Amino acid sequence: MQFIVPKEILDAVKTLQKAGFEAYLVGGCTRDLFMGRKPRDWDVTTNATPEKIQGFFPHTFYENEYGTVGVVNEGAEDDTLKVVEVTPYRIEEKYSDKRRPDSVVFAEKLEDDLKRRDFTINAFAYDPVSHDVFDYFRGEQDLKDKIIRAVGNPKERIGEDALRSMRAVRLAAELNFTVETDTADAIKKLAGNLELIAKERVEDEFSRIVMSPNPMHGIKLLHEYGLLQYVAPELEEGIGVEQNADHIYDVWEHTLRALQHSAERGWPLHVRLAALFHDIGKPRTREWSKEKNDWTFYGHDVVGARMAKEIMRRLKYGNETIDTVTKLVRWHMFFTDIDAITLSAVRRLVRNVGPENVWDLMKVRASDRIGMGRPKEKPYRLRKYESMIEEATRAPVSVGMLATGGARVMEITDEKPGPRIGWMLHALLEDVLDDPTRNEAKFLERRVRELAALTDDELQKSGEKGKEKRLEEEEKELAIIRKKYGVK
Ligand code: ATP
Ligand code: MG
Repeated sequence: MQFIVPKEILDAVKTLQKAGFEAYLVGGCTRDLFMGRKPRDWDVTTNATPEKIQGFFPHTFYENEYGTVGVVNEGAEDDTLKVVEVTPYRIEEKYSDKRRPDSVVFAEKLEDDLKRRDFTINAFAYDPVSHDVFDYFRGEQDLKDKIIRAVGNPKERIGEDALRSMRAVRLAAELNFTVETDTADAIKKLAGNLELIAKERVEDEFSRIVMSPNPMHGIKLLHEYGLLQYVAPELEEGIGVEQNADHIYDVWEHTLRALQHSAERGWPLHVRLAALFHDIGKPRTREWSKEKNDWTFYGHDVVGARMAKEIMRRLKYGNETIDTVTKLVRWHMFFTDIDAITLSAVRRLVRNVGPENVWDLMKVRASDRIGMGRPKEKPYRLRKYESMIEEATRAPVSVGMLATGGARVMEITDEKPGPRIGWMLHALLEDVLDDPTRNEAKFLERRVRELAALTDDELQKSGEKGKEKRLEEEEKELAIIRKKYGVK
């Protein structure tokens, strides 16, 4: 097989090889190349030492404690090519804390470097110059078979580094692969070690699962392997929790389906997390109602917002994500009964969730519905609600949009406050609505001087005409909005 590799990467490999060293592509980029995907970063492995590597390239920096040298390509257009990570062959010595090797030891042989890698699909090397493949663990075959298999003894490998369990699930979700049985067994047996891993790293893999095309599969795997209890055990409270008559799924299945839908729509992390957590408060608030002869979940939005916040804090999410997701969970129960809903209730919701989040809230609601097994994201009443949001948040047609104001008009004309000022402003508004390019101070001020010369009667007429025009314009704008959402 021959693959085309970007020039920046090929140059780095050639530079090392011309200096007499071995240099290969390895890890995720090789995996992605062989799958026909675009690599998200490029890793080069070599038998040159960090000092040597630095000597071969004009612009480099030390990346981490593993001897990785970042080779900088300032001119690269694609962000993934700006830094090529070049790492010397290494073996890892003892993992006494299940997290990271006690010391970094450089290796002489490529095979030794590949041996310390986590999964066979991440552990074969490719020479982009000769196109040779170095595959000691049948990684290429596993890639074809869509299998995630630990390199060597699964229990040892997972035992050395518990983050590998999260990585296995993340790769399964990203690539839609299965985890080989012995590897899965090792993950299950050693699931408790995940507690020893820094939360930031767990969060990183968890977010990548959530952002993958198959987050529902990924989170079910986390549960099946006993990992979810160390990530977000609250989600497991929803398993088998039957809901009210509107629902065909239990809370667990419903929220996973909501998440899956938001992934299928390509929505961002905070929307996906809100879809996943929106009903997290349900198990703790469920009560049987005799009158309704059904389950109720009063306050699950309030309790759920608190729980979601707590989960995200524990996982060390950034404040902005925590804030937004918490708001989305808190307000996901907004009420869309068309006959009862008013523009001021819509305004209140916009204020509560924040104008910057209100459209994401609609995405959460759409995910919620699809997660219930409904065929459509948006029934009429949700579209009506969205049309009202747009109505409530747009700038109204009014004298407020003029590039001048009452105070300035009084200044120019020397007139006292009174109805004449309002008439003048409305007359100006009519001009501007006829031709928006007139909405600039110079034109308006000249026009104000003309208007000031009119009698009260004349001016009142012009003002009234402006007011009518304003109403017409408002109606037109609302009609456009309603048409956009297909509602009356
Ligand atoms: P992606 O770049 O899509 O995140 P990746 O597999 O390249 O996937 P990186 O974190 O970039 O992930 O790691 C690069 C390579 O380093 C991996 O392919 C793997 O060979 C090795 N590796 C990364 N993390 C571990 C780990 N915890 N244990 C063993 N090997 C690892
Ligand atoms: Mg990578």
